[in-house]
Amino acid sequence: MTLDGMNIAVIGGGVGGLAAGAAASTRGARVTVFEKTPRRTESGGGSGIQISPNGTRVLRALGSIDRTSLPSMPARLLSLKHGPSGREIARLDIHARHDDARYLLVRRSDLVAFLADRAEKRGATLLTGTRADVSFRDGRFEILADAHPLPGDFDVVVASDGIQSSIRQRHLPGGRLATETGQRAWRALASISSASERLRSELSEGPCLFTGPGKHLVVYVVPGGPMINITAITRGCGRNGKPASRTRPEHDQIELRALYAGWCDSVVSLLDGIQPPEVRELYRCPVPAALSRANLVAIGDAAHPMLPHLAQGASAALEDAWTLVEALANAQTCPAAFTAYERRRRSRVVRLQSASERSGWIYQLKNPFLRLPVHLGLRAAKPLLPVLLRQWYGWVHDHDVVAGTARN
Ligand SMILES: Cc1cc2nc3c(=O)[nH]c(=O)nc-3n(C[C@H](O)[C@H](O)[C@H](O)COP(=O)(O)OP(=O)(O)OC[C@H]3O[C@@H](n4cnc5c(N)ncnc54)[C@H](O)[C@@H]3O)c2cc1C
Repeated sequence: MTLDGMNIAVIGGGVGGLAAGAAASTRGARVTVFEKTPRRTESGGGSGIQISPNGTRVLRALGSIDRTSLPSMPARLLSLKHGPSGREIARLDIHARHDDARYLLVRRSDLVAFLADRAEKRGATLLTGTRADVSFRDGRFEILADAHPLPGDFDVVVASDGIQSSIRQRHLPGGRLATETGQRAWRALASISSASERLRSELSEGPCLFTGPGKHLVVYVVPGGPMINITAITRGCGRNGKPASRTRPEHDQIELRALYAGWCDSVVSLLDGIQPPEVRELYRCPVPAALSRANLVAIGDAAHPMLPHLAQGASAALEDAWTLVEALANAQTCPAAFTAYERRRRSRVVRLQSASERSGWIYQLKNPFLRLPVHLGLRAAKPLLPVLLRQWYGWVHDHDVVAGTARN
């Protein structure tokens, strides 16, 4: 099937939606991306995001990555540490094994700008500040833009409206709303000068992940300064069970420091130098029974919300976007393309989802009866750990959805 002239609506101009828009318009489709936020920034703003080689392969296929198009810091190693003592548990190679795809540390806003630029240069229309929805009539999904029905028939409607997707819940078979996990993410930036000399030298190789009972913290350098990006994950629902309030950011700073009091000096001194954090609850939701219905298909967090513990949500959204457009280009009909897309993606995203859950559980082991044997086991296996972890991450990072398909 040719994408030439195919009319595609994309609801949600985040990582997955923009990547799908760029890939489809390169193949000749007429793409309109609806993004509810008025500017091409997202709530994460200047915070960082890790893109592993499986995601980088898609970015490279969409256009060349350089300092101007997508400022990034390459990472080679991930250091896993015991947070309270600062002791290193293992160090892991995270660069690609079979090609030169890099592990990149970027700013979220830069990533979105890169993808938006690719999509627009290839002819996609980006309607920012436009909230879109769908309605189901005569067996097809139509688009409502800011509550007004849009004329015209869309061959394909891509739902990429993120973790809180209401399209998933209302229109996909078995689709549900995401529910709170009781875990909370704190994202903050700190000046590089707040890091100890030792930590700075470790960060020049890649991210450091500090683990501890009931919480963990990931630290890495991002471009623009450079600055240090801190993502802290804690357990226990929002204050009084309510979502975090953004009215008193200075309280969030104090609370975050208090949560990590008693951890190693590297963590404590870093948190002393942070800017007000962004706080959000974390959600989970099972993958719907089907990722498509009629002319509607879901990608990214709308299809498979993922906890951030394996840093895979954005890379998985990029993989989805590429796979969907390839499936459309290679199938005879849209339903056949959606079947092929689902066949290629379902088992991987379900596995990524549960691996993300499991990683968080392991990093934050609280029960001393479990923690002790795990830590003793890790210590005993220390010489083998890099190999074991490499195996563990191998299936995640080595996955290549671009191989054998036409690059742009
Ligand atoms: C703390 C934290 C850290 C993370 N770190 C990483 C990491 O290091 N690496 C990684 O790979 N992933 C990470 N993730 C996950 C990653 O951010 C997401 O998985 C990824 O952004 C999903 O992309 P998406 O396109 O599906 O959704 P999003 O990027 O969230 O985009 C959805 C878009 O849809 C728009 N939208 C929603 N509803 C509508 C509507 N009705 N009309 C129009 N527009 C709409 C939203 O405004 C948004 O722009 C992290 C997540 C968190 C919470």
